[in-house]
Amino acid sequence: MSRNHADIIVIGGGIIGCAIAYNLAKRNIQPLLIDKAATVGTEASWAGAGILTSHASTHEPYPELCRASLALYPTLAEELRTETQIDIEFIRSGTLSVFFNPDDAAGLIGLADRRVKNGFSAEVLTAEKAWELEPALSRSIVGAVLFPEDAQVRNPKMVTALAKGAAKFGTKFQLGNPVTGFVRDGERVVGVVVNGETLYADTFVIANGCWAGEPTAQLGVPMQIGPAKGQIVLIEAMPPLFERTIDGLGIYIVPRADGKILLGATVEFVGYDKSPTVDGTKQMIDAGVAIAPQLAQATFVQTWAGLRPYVRKGPLLGYLPGYDNVVLASGHFKNGILLAPITGQLIAELLTTGQPSLSLEPFHPTGV
Ligand SMILES: Cc1cc2nc3c(=O)[nH]c(=O)nc-3n(C[C@H](O)[C@H](O)[C@H](O)COP(=O)(O)OP(=O)(O)OC[C@H]3O[C@@H](n4cnc5c(N)ncnc54)[C@H](O)[C@@H]3O)c2cc1C
Repeated sequence: MSRNHADIIVIGGGIIGCAIAYNLAKRNIQPLLIDKAATVGTEASWAGAGILTSHASTHEPYPELCRASLALYPTLAEELRTETQIDIEFIRSGTLSVFFNPDDAAGLIGLADRRVKNGFSAEVLTAEKAWELEPALSRSIVGAVLFPEDAQVRNPKMVTALAKGAAKFGTKFQLGNPVTGFVRDGERVVGVVVNGETLYADTFVIANGCWAGEPTAQLGVPMQIGPAKGQIVLIEAMPPLFERTIDGLGIYIVPRADGKILLGATVEFVGYDKSPTVDGTKQMIDAGVAIAPQLAQATFVQTWAGLRPYVRKGPLLGYLPGYDNVVLASGHFKNGILLAPITGQLIAELLTTGQPSLSLEPFHPTGV
């Protein structure tokens, strides 16, 4: 890489951009990763809850993508620990989905049956069995389904580890200013503009999360990617109340290794507003206390919100229509943490061999 020319420029240093840079750098490509913030991973990739879950019962492309990514986690966690000395806290904690009424029970038991029929794991539990596993659960639940393969990760640590690993293998970083436009030579994109300066590359990856609509529109192929706000409440209960992630009443409860507990998350389409609200906080706390009454005695720590990159049918992964050197990787919505390992791998394969090991065809960006 010369002073202002890189092999590949990656726009966006969230978990997706960092996973792509890490995978490229490990394949001896030296990307330049650009983020508008002063450090990587300050947006959705910091705000996320870090649940790694795929409850689907089918073999359709999206659930297959989720499963393939989850399968990469154990090895990646070890690799990052060795390369960066960062423990990303990958824990196979499982999820317990609880139900309070026959309607919810029917839906979840049906899902569990279909999963088992199709070769995936799920176990229907009586309320007594669920209380045995998680004694803090409300006495009002009527049963639960256990998804034992679900896991969790500490996403801020994961982004830091991916960035540190990427740097170790040759990735350069340009932080603190956004990409504001593209430079062309004829039809071809040859550079991006950052703080009035042009940075050149052979290939460009747009991975700037819920802001990806801007660069795609600048290139004349607007993608309807936008923000879906999610609010989280962080509390602390000692001794720890749960071993597993608990899911019910439209929220999840994530017990972290450090004893803190996340209650999340709202899904709101309110633009680029990241302020936590009283209503959002109340929703999370009310549902949390209904699932586990003891949570009412927990210590309130903090609340925050982040912006998931939402697209109606995502993620969008592949060459931008009309361009043979611009790739889009965005729109991971609720599963960007889960999907980061496979996204990094497949985009790096696409850019180095032209042959991703899983077809990207179902996720091809088509524009609006
Ligand atoms: C409350 C909440 C809970 C969640 N829980 C989970 C979960 O449990 N499991 C899960 O798998 N997923 C979860 N998600 C979703 C997940 O966090 C996202 O899908 C994922 O983080 C998206 O990563 P990203 O890199 O695409 O976007 P981001 O993390 O938003 O990163 C985009 C980056 O691009 C940068 N950028 C933007 N514009 C420019 C520009 N013009 N130039 C340069 N840089 C730019 C930003 O500064 C940012 O760093 C959750 C999200 C939220 C908000």
